[in-house]
Formats: sequence, C-alpha cells, structure tokens
Amino acid sequence: MADCIFCKIAAGEIPSKKAYEDDQILAFYDLDPQAPVHILIIPKEHISSANELTEENGPLLGHIFAAAAKLAKELGLEKGYRIVNNCGEDGGQTVRHLHFHLLGGRSMEWPPG
Ligand code: AMP
Ligand code: ZN
Repeated sequence: MADCIFCKIAAGEIPSKKAYEDDQILAFYDLDPQAPVHILIIPKEHISSANELTEENGPLLGHIFAAAAKLAKELGLEKGYRIVNNCGEDGGQTVRHLHFHLLGGRSMEWPPG
C-alpha cells in the first residue's frame, strides 16, 4: 500500500534490521526498543490492524506466532516473553499496518513485584 511505512520495509524500500523473513512475513528490530529484545513481526500483505482480521487469516496468524516462538528460542528468551498488538487509536496503534511486538529479555511482570 502506498505511503505505508511497513509495506515499504516489507518491500525493502526502507531499510530494517531483519530478524526473520519468508514469503509471508517479516520480523525486524524496533527502532525504539522497549526491552532488550524488541522485534516487530508483520505480514507482508497490507492489513491495517487486528480489527480487519477475518477467519481466513487464521493460518497467517498461526504462522506469525510460530515464527515468534522460533525467534524467542533463537534469542534465548527461555524465561518467557510478551507479544503485544496495539489496535486502533485508543489501542495505541501508531503504524496502520498489522504488527506484533515481541518483547523479552527482562521481566514483563505486571504489576512489578
Ligand atoms: P505501535 O505503536 O504498536 O503502532 O508500534 C509501532 C512501532 O513501530 C513503534 O514501536 C516504533 O518504534 C516502530 N517503528 C516505527 N518506524 C519504524 C522503523 N522504520 N523501523 C523499525 N521500527 C519502527
Ligand atoms: Zn502496509
């Protein structure tokens, strides 16, 4: 989609530090990391948000979560990790291309304690 920054990253038109890529998805490091490991996983296909997902996207979502688990294993997140999706304005979504944050390398316990 024109003017979508994550479509441009998926197309290689904007550089990113890649963590994983295949024909369906791309995982790359967040520019403003909120944890020692902070990776964004996106479908290469433009889907604006989780609110646009349908039953037909089930295999894609399974693929994204399987890739997250594989990355977590490769990156040594054996103590766990957090997967976050911000959806829409009140959900805090700033980039309108579906993405999942994979965060790890520190305790995500909430409330902290
Ligand atoms: P969200 O607030 O869920 O829409 O998250 C968007 C995320 O994209 C933020 O964590 C940004 O730091 C990240 N981000 C924006 N532009 C880039 C970029 N060019 N490369 C890597 N991460 C980016
Ligand atoms: Zn896009």
